[in-house]
Amino acid sequence: MNHFEYRDGVLCAESVRLDLLAEAVGTPFYCYSTATLERHYRVFSDALPQGSLIAFSVKANGNMAVLKTLAKLGAGADVVSGGELAKALAAGIPAGKIVFSGVGKTQAEMHSALEAGIYQFNVESEPELAALDEVARGLNMRAPVTLRINPDVDAKTHAKITTGTAETKFGIPFRRAQEAYSHAAKLAHIEIVGIDVHIGSQITDLAPFEAAFRRVAELVPQLRADGHNITRLDLGGGLGVPYENSNMPPPDPSEYGAMVARVTKKLGCSLSFEPGRLIAANAGVLVSRVIYVKRGEAKTFLIIDAGMNDLIRPAMYDAYHHIVAVAQPAVGSPRPEYDVVGPVCETSDLFAAGRALPELKNGDLVAILSAGAYGAVMASDYNARPAAPEVLVSGEQWGIVRPRETYADLIAKDRIPDWLVD
Ligand SMILES: *Cc1c(COP(=O)(O)O)cnc(C)c1O
Repeated sequence: MNHFEYRDGVLCAESVRLDLLAEAVGTPFYCYSTATLERHYRVFSDALPQGSLIAFSVKANGNMAVLKTLAKLGAGADVVSGGELAKALAAGIPAGKIVFSGVGKTQAEMHSALEAGIYQFNVESEPELAALDEVARGLNMRAPVTLRINPDVDAKTHAKITTGTAETKFGIPFRRAQEAYSHAAKLAHIEIVGIDVHIGSQITDLAPFEAAFRRVAELVPQLRADGHNITRLDLGGGLGVPYENSNMPPPDPSEYGAMVARVTKKLGCSLSFEPGRLIAANAGVLVSRVIYVKRGEAKTFLIIDAGMNDLIRPAMYDAYHHIVAVAQPAVGSPRPEYDVVGPVCETSDLFAAGRALPELKNGDLVAILSAGAYGAVMASDYNARPAAPEVLVSGEQWGIVRPRETYADLIAKDRIPDWLVD
């Protein structure tokens, strides 16, 4: 459930009219709802066993105001770079609730994370273990570590967001787990604390999660018998959200939580989770204005002022996003089909093909829904298009939480070398 609804004929974010917001900040813009972020966080947290750490996946939405909103609810953070670590700390997320994931952590990033005193490193390879041991030795510390185990389970999601099969770059193969743990145990500055698993994103079926978690649960007694101190399980993120009305909706967080409790209850481990999309996706929309309605020979194109540089998910993952008119259409009004496209000079700059929408004309506003995760964070300035602003709403209040880039900002990013200066 989210807080984007029509009120008096206009789509609103909580109590704020998106048409008035568009006039105030210009289009395109991202708009996030605080109440929705809070609701999603609480629904997930209420579904999990008591005491679980919810480490929000910062890569899904790294806006400082979003991070701060979640920090106030008690969220931790799952970070995948030194930049995300710095942002999470600056947003007030305690270091003791931060986990560091990713296959390519550099020694500089490890150094910052150790100095900050993060909760744990989710290590993905033996070379990474060696590097972390070396950095921790330099600081005379022991790095708290889980090894990310690749359970070789197919999450049955889009190939570009599957991470738990043997073909991907992620994690340590399940059959090599014991060997990798023995290796880790020999490193003086590594402190083994548990096991980590994350099999992918936008997973809409509980079965692959359960299969992965059961493999991890199998490993716990084996690793303990080998003498390792396994007290924590990090079960990753990946729970899907409804992007379209399908007859296979993603599992309810309560079913996910019940399954987790069932699979892990005898293990006596503390649990952490890394949800991103589940918290943020349906807490954000991308509002855009129609520039032209172009009637082609075979199709009608709705050319809007948001492009693939603003929201790349359709181009990159063939993702489906609901698109709605900001002005509520009358019941029973016609719904012609449009190809909804952006202005970027790429054929893949296509948000939806053959989509039935209310009759729209130049200047009308549309909202692309479920854009709060992997939206603004993946934006670029391709085609020299300044980054769209981000707005956070809370009840009747709203604030620009990232201003629109200007042409001057774009120009100032580059430097002219001496020999080209006039
Ligand atoms: C991307 C990612 C997540 C978050 O995935 P969602 O599908 O957004 O929940 C969690 N953990 C790791 C290691 C990731 O790479």
